[in-house]
Amino acid sequence: MDVPAYIAANEAQFFADLKEWLAIPSISGDPAHRADVARSAEWLAGYLRGLGWPTVEVWQTGTPDAPGLPAVFAEWPAADPDAPKVVVYGHHDVQPVEPLAEWDTDPFTPTEKGDSLYGRGTSDDKGQIFFHTLGVRAGMAAAGSGAPPVTVKLLVEGEEESGSVHFADLLRAHRDRLACDAIVISDTTMWSAEVPSMCTGMRGLTEAEVVLRGPGTDLHSGSFGGAVPNPLHAMAALMAALHDDQGRVTLPGFYDDVVPLTDQERALFAKLPFDEAAWLATAGASRAAYGEAGYSTLERIWARPTAEINGMWGGHTGPGGKTIVPREAHAKVSFRLVAGQEPGKVQEAFRAWVAEHTPEGIEAEVVIPGGGVRPCFSPIDSAGVQAARAAMEKAFGTEVLFTREGGSGPEADLADILEAPLVFVAVGLNEDRIHAPNEKVEMPLLLKGAEAAAYLWDEFAEALR
Ligand SMILES: [Zn+2]
Repeated sequence: MDVPAYIAANEAQFFADLKEWLAIPSISGDPAHRADVARSAEWLAGYLRGLGWPTVEVWQTGTPDAPGLPAVFAEWPAADPDAPKVVVYGHHDVQPVEPLAEWDTDPFTPTEKGDSLYGRGTSDDKGQIFFHTLGVRAGMAAAGSGAPPVTVKLLVEGEEESGSVHFADLLRAHRDRLACDAIVISDTTMWSAEVPSMCTGMRGLTEAEVVLRGPGTDLHSGSFGGAVPNPLHAMAALMAALHDDQGRVTLPGFYDDVVPLTDQERALFAKLPFDEAAWLATAGASRAAYGEAGYSTLERIWARPTAEINGMWGGHTGPGGKTIVPREAHAKVSFRLVAGQEPGKVQEAFRAWVAEHTPEGIEAEVVIPGGGVRPCFSPIDSAGVQAARAAMEKAFGTEVLFTREGGSGPEADLADILEAPLVFVAVGLNEDRIHAPNEKVEMPLLLKGAEAAAYLWDEFAEALR
C-alpha cells in the first residue's frame, strides 16, 4: 500500500482520534486548566503507546515546589543505529477561548463544516503535530517496515502558549535523549492552500524603556522655559535620531551581524503572489507602505531588523493647557532582530547610544527587561530544508516556496541547546484564525501534511547521513 492509499484508508479514524484530543481544553495560560493540560499530555502519551511507539514518556517541567506543565516525549528508533535522528517539535497546549460569544461552535466540541474542522487547537497546534502520527505510520506501511528510516523523536510541549517558561530548562535536562541531526518544527503556516511554502526563519526581539530626567520638578515655562534642558525635547530628538532618512536604524554596528538575504531567497520571495494593497488593508488600513529603503514589504517584515518606538509620554497630557517644562520623559522601544543578531549585543549598543546622545543637564536611564528572544533561521540551501522541500513538493505536487515569520517562539532555544538546524514543515494557514474565535484547520491540508511527513523521513535518511 503506498503512502496516499494508507492515508486514505486511515483518515476517518485519524480525524476521530484528533477530535478526542481537541476536546480536552488544555489552556496553559489559565491556572484553572492545569489539570486539563496534564490530561492532554496523558491522552497523547496513551495514544502514541497505542500506536506502538516504543518509547513514550510524560516529562514534568519546573520544580516540585513550582511545577510547570508537562511535555510529551516519544521515540521511534530507526532499524539502522547509524541513521540520522530527528526531533519533531510541536505543542499540545492551546490559547484561551474568550470572547466565547464570538465562536459559532463550541471551541472544545470539534465541528466539521465542509473541508474545515473548527475548534481550539485544530491548527495551533494539536492538528499539526497529529499529522506526524499518521505520517510516520504511512511511511512504514508503504516501506513494509517496522521502523522509520530515521529515528523520530516527538517533543510536544505544554507551555508554548504561556511563554515556554520551563522549556529551555527541559531541553537542557534532556539534552542527551534529544540529540539529533535536525529539528522539524510543525507550528507555522503556509502562504496559502494553493501556494504551499515553508518558513525559513523567525525574527527575535529585545525591548527597552528610556527615562530622561531634567529638573527635579515641573517648572513654569514662563520663568524657566528656554533656559534649561527640556527632557521631552531631548526624548523627541533621541527617538527621531533612531532612524536615518533611508529608514535604516542608526545604532552603530546594528547591521554588522545580519545575515543578508541571498539573491535566490529574494527571487523566491518575489514569486509569492503578494498583493500590497490587500496587505495594507490588513495593516489597520495603513495608507502607505514604509520602511528600510531597498527592500520589499515582505523582506522588511521577514528578513530585516527594525527599531520601533512603542510609546512616548511625559509632561502634561490631560485636558487644557499647562505651561510647563516637564521634569521627565519616557519612551518604550523594541527591536525585531534577524538571523545573526544577538539580543545582548543590541541591548549594549542601545545603552551606549542613548548615553552618547543624551544632552548635558539630562540624566538618562535605560531599563531592559530580560535577555530578549534570539532570532532563528534555516538557510534555504541547507540539506534539511532541501530534503523537506522535496517531501513537501512530492505531497503537494507543486513548487514549494519560502516565507519567514515576523514573530517568534521557543525555536531559537531548540536550535541553540540541541545544536541542530531547524526545518519548518507545517500546513496551517494565516486564515486559520489561530489565537482567535472560530479557529479552524483545513482537513485536506492536514492529510497533505501527513503525506509530506511520510516522505520526509526517507528524504532525511539520504540527506542528513
Ligand atoms: Zn503554536
